[in-house]
Amino acid sequence: MKRDLWNDRFSNLPKWPCPKCESGSLVAMGGFPHSEETEESKSERQDHLEWEPEWVRESFVALLKCDECGEVVTVAGTKRLWTYEDHESHEQCLGESLIVRHIYPAPHIIEVSGELPSECAEHLELAFELYWVDKAAAANRLRIFVERLMDHFDVPVEGKGNKEKNHALNLSERITEFEKMKPGHKDALDALRFVGNHGSHAGQSDQKALLDAFEILEGALSELVDNKKAKLAAKAKALIQSKGNPKAWAK
Ligand SMILES: [Zn+2]
Repeated sequence: MKRDLWNDRFSNLPKWPCPKCESGSLVAMGGFPHSEETEESKSERQDHLEWEPEWVRESFVALLKCDECGEVVTVAGTKRLWTYEDHESHEQCLGESLIVRHIYPAPHIIEVSGELPSECAEHLELAFELYWVDKAAAANRLRIFVERLMDHFDVPVEGKGNKEKNHALNLSERITEFEKMKPGHKDALDALRFVGNHGSHAGQSDQKALLDAFEILEGALSELVDNKKAKLAAKAKALIQSKGNPKAWAK
């Protein structure tokens, strides 16, 4: 994961990967970005003697286009100014920051495998969209994604879990059941559950923790859904069996 792509604040919009073809990059179309100062910002400029350029807030919109498939994506947010000292000229200069609040359709923060069932992929794509709008909601969406993943692997919804009587299993208990079926992913899934819980209860989710959660999910999915490790192991085995003979690989 290239973390630089998923900051909230940019001096120039980065070349996000295209959400449609996933191989192209999104490039700003002409007239980028269209922006206008907000009314509140204008009145502050007039009403306050201590006014500084950093107070300026503009709303911006932009259209981005994929350089391969032509998909068009909308971006919107707030433009802020900031001052910095130019050490060579010893002058105060003004820089611009674009704070992104919305991208649609949203670029994929991690790969969405074609093997992923659609009811899981939908939640993942919503998490990418919510990432810009509301981090806590995105974290909560990842938690729902884990629930749907458990459904996909037919993890029981009822059982004894941690109690003596049968009851509807909560996500923690279902993850414990899943560990018995496919060992090795409990920590990753619990980490996603915790980030989701924190997002739901505190109403906010730390950006770093959320990006960590996406990264953990990417690692878990590459094994659970794409069987990458098993596929690589099979390739290695085929190479060993053929003693590196390329004609045997084709068989
Ligand atoms: Zn594309």
